[in-house]
Amino acid sequence: MIKKMEQDGELWKLFTKKEEYDPILLDRYGRFSYYLSSQRNIFEPEVSNFLIKEGLSPEYPEGRKFAVCLTHDIDFVYPGMLNTAARTVKALKKGQFVQASILPFSRINKNWSPLWNFRQIMELETSYGAKSSFYFLTLDPGNQDFTFNIEELEGELGHISDNGWEVGLHGGHEAYDNPAEIRRKKQKLEKILKKEVIGYRNHYLRFKTPDSWEILADAGFSYDTTFGYHDCAGFRNGMCHPFKPYNLNTGKEIDILEIPLTIMDTTLFSLMHLDFNQAWKLTEKLIDTVEHYKGVLTILWHNTYMQGDYLEFYRKILQYCTQKNAWLASGAEISSWWKEKY
Ligand SMILES: [Zn+2]
Repeated sequence: MIKKMEQDGELWKLFTKKEEYDPILLDRYGRFSYYLSSQRNIFEPEVSNFLIKEGLSPEYPEGRKFAVCLTHDIDFVYPGMLNTAARTVKALKKGQFVQASILPFSRINKNWSPLWNFRQIMELETSYGAKSSFYFLTLDPGNQDFTFNIEELEGELGHISDNGWEVGLHGGHEAYDNPAEIRRKKQKLEKILKKEVIGYRNHYLRFKTPDSWEILADAGFSYDTTFGYHDCAGFRNGMCHPFKPYNLNTGKEIDILEIPLTIMDTTLFSLMHLDFNQAWKLTEKLIDTVEHYKGVLTILWHNTYMQGDYLEFYRKILQYCTQKNAWLASGAEISSWWKEKY
C-alpha cells in the first residue's frame, strides 16, 4: 500500500510531511504550526481515505466500529504550582471540582491535592468501560517546568498500572531532540514504575520530523502519540489510523508506531479560541469522521481540565463515543492490537 501511495506524489508528501523537513519558520518551541502548512483540508483524513479504498479494513476487539485512544499529560499535580493556568485555579477555588468520592482518599493520603486526581479519572472512565494512558513528566529540579518529583507519585503510578491503565513518559522541553535525555527519563520512570515504559508524548507537542521518531525508536519506545498540531485539531498528515512513519532522508520506515493526536483540550479552547458549543461541533465532526474510516481518534485531556465545564466536555466525549460503539482504550492497548494485526 505504501508503494502505491508513492506513485501519488501529493498524498505521499502529505503522509511523510515533506514540508516539515525544511520549514521556513518554527515557533519558539521548535514546532511546525498548522498556519504554515500547505495542507488546508485538516479535518479530512485524505491518506486514510486512500488506504481504505485500497483495502485497509481495520477491526477492533468485540466487533467495535472504531477506536478512541484516551490520554492525559501530567504537567501539574499541585495547584500551587499551576501558575500558568489561572482559570483552573479560579475554578478550583470555587470548588467546582470537589466530589464526595474524593474525600476518603484525601484522608488517607497526606499528599492529596485536587490535581492528584488519577483515581477519579479512572473511576469516570471505568463507568464507560474505558481505559486510558497517563503520560508523566519525569523532570529533575532545575529542568524547565519542573513542579513535582515523580518519586512522590510512586504509589499512584503503581495503582494506575496495576489496574490496567497505562503509565507512559511525557518528555520535557528538551527531550524531543535529545537522545540521551529521552533515555535518561525513560529509565528514571521505569525504575519507579518497576515496569517497561512503551508509550510517549512530548511536552508542548514539541516534535521534529522525522528525527523525533528516530530518537524514540532508538530509545526503545513502542509508540508515540505526539503527532498533532498544537494550533489546530485534526489529522496532521492525513491519517486517522496508527502508522509506521517513513523517513525521507534514509528512505526507510521507522520502527515505531505513531498513534496520531487528533484533539487536545488546550488546542480547542485556547489556541483555536472556540467556545464550548463550537468545540463540541468540531469534536463531534471529528469523531464521526474517524468512525466512518474505522480509525483511531486520539484525545489529550489534561488532569488540570478535569473540573467544571471541561470535565463535562470530557464526559460528553466518553458518552458520545460509547453510544457509537467505540473501543475506548489506552495507547498501549491500541499499539499492541494494531501491531499484532497490521
Ligand atoms: Zn505537557
